[in-house]
Amino acid sequence: MSKRFTPEVIKEAFLRAKGRCECTLLNCKAHGRTPLTLAKGDPRCARTFFFTEQGEKWIARPVDPAGPATSANCMILCLQCAQERDEETAPADRGKTGS
Ligand SMILES: [Zn+2]
Ligand SMILES: [Zn+2]
Repeated sequence: MSKRFTPEVIKEAFLRAKGRCECTLLNCKAHGRTPLTLAKGDPRCARTFFFTEQGEKWIARPVDPAGPATSANCMILCLQCAQERDEETAPADRGKTGS
């Protein structure tokens, strides 16, 4: 059984993220970077999006899949970074949400 974030929790996390991808993995190949974020020493992905673009441009992911369904454990990722993570992490808890 996988935990689902409620829309309220996702919105809270989205607001905290300020509409920007929260991926800060330095070795993330899908990362969006700009000269501005690099100059600031900001390792975070530079992609931004609107709340209404959930599923199209971004998704909410648990930081710790075994953790609570709270906004603190909810990470906003652009689809590119989310896919990158899917390829690196074990696909064990994928595709089980429907059954
Ligand atoms: Zn990334
Ligand atoms: Zn990203």
